[in-house]
Formats: sequence, C-alpha cells, structure tokens
Amino acid sequence: MLVAACALVDADGRVLIAQRPEGKPLAGLWEFPGGKVEPGETPEETVIRELREELGIETKVACLAPLTFASHSYESFHLLMPLFICRRFWGTPHPHEGQALKWVRPHQMRDYPMPPADIPLIPFLIDLL
Ligand code: C5P
Repeated sequence: MLVAACALVDADGRVLIAQRPEGKPLAGLWEFPGGKVEPGETPEETVIRELREELGIETKVACLAPLTFASHSYESFHLLMPLFICRRFWGTPHPHEGQALKWVRPHQMRDYPMPPADIPLIPFLIDLL
C-alpha cells in the first residue's frame, strides 16, 4: 500500500499531528496527515488532496519537500509512506473528519502513541527542526 503523509510545520517549528478517529484502523493513534495514493495520483497530489479534505487547507507541489519515507510490514500488507515537509500553506487547519489535532514540537511526539510505521520518522523531524 502506498500512503503519502505530510508534516505541516508552523512558524514556531511545531508539527501538526492528527488523531485517527474511532471506526478507522489504528483508531486513537496520532499520525501525520495524509492518506492512500489513488490511481493516477502522484504522492504530492495525494497530500494536496488529503490536506484539503481532512484539514481544509491549501498548498501546492512547490511547497512540498520530500524528507524521507516509512516502510513497514503490517500483518496483511506492506506500507510505503513518503513523508513531505510543508511550511507554506493557506488557511488554518480544522478537523474536517472529527479528528483531534495538535501542534507539537518534534521531541514531544514520543508522548503521543503513533502507528508503528510513523515512529521511525520522528528522528528525521527532530534533526530537521
Ligand atoms: O489512513 P488510511 O486508513 O487510509 O491508511 C491506510 C493504512 O495505512 C492504515 O490502516 C494504517 O495501517 C497505515 N497508515 C500508517 N500511518 C499513517 C497512515 C496510514 O501506518 N500515517
């Protein structure tokens, strides 16, 4: 499975994480916004679409910088997940899908339970920010 994720970074160097809502797999865990890459999409297009759908904000391909990618074997599928950094976006993120949102410093992310695929991404953000 190919999922594209994005670390939104605010002017203070904090990163947005979202809590997966009840009823979804891994409900209650905190993740970087993003979602499945649909047929015909580039990962950047997926991020732009998911940020619009999940958070009501706009960004563009030129504002997305690839940082690293996660590669994790879940029981029934293998996940590849590029992580983009986005410092420039338009609008204020709002939870459009009932998810809780938090702006956190990268070293604070360890206090929030995350899906196993997302955890190895944290040191990259600590180094970058
Ligand atoms: O978000 P969605 O449920 O479409 O993602 C599909 C699967 O990818 C999830 O069930 C989860 O196993 C995995 N995933 C993840 N970390 C994310 C997003 C998704 O491990 N940040």
